[in-house]
Amino acid sequence: LGSESCTGSTALSLPHRDPDAWAYLLFTSGTSGVPKGVPITVGNVDAFLDAFFASSGPMTEEDRALQMFDLTFDFSVVAYLAPLARGACLYTVPPNVIKFTFIAALLDDEHITQLPLVPSVISHLRPYFGDLHLPEVKHTFFCGEALHADVLAEWSRCAPNSRLTNYYGPTEATVFAMYYAWEPAREAVPRAHNGIVSIGAAMAGMRAVVIGDEGRVLLAGEKGELCLAGPQLTPGYFNDPSRNAESFLRLDGERYYKTGDVAYRESDGSFTFLGRLDTQVKVQGYRVELGEIEHHARALAEPRGAVVVDVQGLAGLTRLHLFLEAFDGEVDTVLHGLKARLPHYMVPTAATVVRALPLNSNGKVDRLRLRAIASEQAGS
Ligand code: AMP
Repeated sequence: LGSESCTGSTALSLPHRDPDAWAYLLFTSGTSGVPKGVPITVGNVDAFLDAFFASSGPMTEEDRALQMFDLTFDFSVVAYLAPLARGACLYTVPPNVIKFTFIAALLDDEHITQLPLVPSVISHLRPYFGDLHLPEVKHTFFCGEALHADVLAEWSRCAPNSRLTNYYGPTEATVFAMYYAWEPAREAVPRAHNGIVSIGAAMAGMRAVVIGDEGRVLLAGEKGELCLAGPQLTPGYFNDPSRNAESFLRLDGERYYKTGDVAYRESDGSFTFLGRLDTQVKVQGYRVELGEIEHHARALAEPRGAVVVDVQGLAGLTRLHLFLEAFDGEVDTVLHGLKARLPHYMVPTAATVVRALPLNSNGKVDRLRLRAIASEQAGS
């Protein structure tokens, strides 16, 4: 919506809705080749919005918010719903523009005040940082993937009056469920581990614990799987009882979602994100199970093995590289086939045929070796 359509203050009055009714069903990538359906209820969204506003600082009808995400990406839910719930103006990105040039200009021209960003997006904006002086931005909120402390610090100079929040969480807990707010006036540098910004503590109403292999809640400093509980948790995957049995557990009578993320709790109660337990990766903020791409590649090429690895390219952007074992067909045909079956961000940008996939000492596919080959081929 352009600023001229921003008329201000008519409060929205919504009819009473059953809190258990579904608000939306979002699909995320699944290892078995079949996407997972995550139903989110009206009650989940209510709890999420309350917790978000409790963490975000005021948003009013004077605000101008950017919404740049596809509607299939759950970060879009907060990017449009929060401003609309407060009567703020929403600025979207038309499909036929050069996205990052457009966004950089929009931030300045329209005096955007609320700015949800995915860390990969900010890498694209980085070349414009020198020209961006955005004193009107009140809140920059990041989510979707690991946020690098140096980028955050650089951004804080472009938007010197902005609150800066790193939100963390999976689709299964309604967009995000934890946060760390960096206040440069109080902490000289963002709290970080290996350059990755802290994910802080659970949002209002939510609980976070780290569990070990045997399902025991771990103490501060012990590394394990991060689990989340509370009113933002999905009732469970759509039509998938076996995945529900695997992905949720009960602790002290409460249902927790096992995020698949490795983390530890600091002694002050905040959490540090360390990485994934599985081969799920993030591409432009989108959640991608490498196994899902491999499943389709195998079906298309019928090689003995198909493995996809993620490689860090320029500006820390993630690219995907496909390896096909003993394949004698046209590699481009496989890539085109993947394009027809998968969303654009899941299609590998490069492919290599190998006689045999390298194995590590455990006899598993040596993904580290393949990653090294892929980086070498990309010249990065
Ligand atoms: P999605 O369901 O698409 O929101 O993806 C959720 C996953 O994204 C999490 O399980 C994490 O692996 C990753 N993620 C989201 N936010 C952050 C963050 N602030 N820092 C590190 N990883 C994150």
